[in-house]
Amino acid sequence: MRLVVDLNKCQGYAQCAFLAPDVFAMHGEESLIYDPRAREEQRERLARAVAACPVQAITADGLEGAAGAEASAGMGAGDASDAR
Ligand code: SF4
Repeated sequence: MRLVVDLNKCQGYAQCAFLAPDVFAMHGEESLIYDPRAREEQRERLARAVAACPVQAITADGLEGAAGAEASAGMGAGDASDAR
């Protein structure tokens, strides 16, 4: 999945780094670094991070049907989607 963070919007709240630490990381106090090509297994975490960003700075392709509205469902939400 590809993702882009609008660093002009990003305020360094670090919600994304907390929710998807394999994709996002804080570098110093306020600059964010991230992997623009997140692996498939990061889908749910990435969806939560997108939903949690207070300024909607994260845009990701291919998240349709992912956690989204169920962002707070937590772990073990089942495996409704195909592994691919
Ligand atoms: S949650 Fe949003 S504002 Fe906060 S660091 Fe991530 S992209 Fe930036």
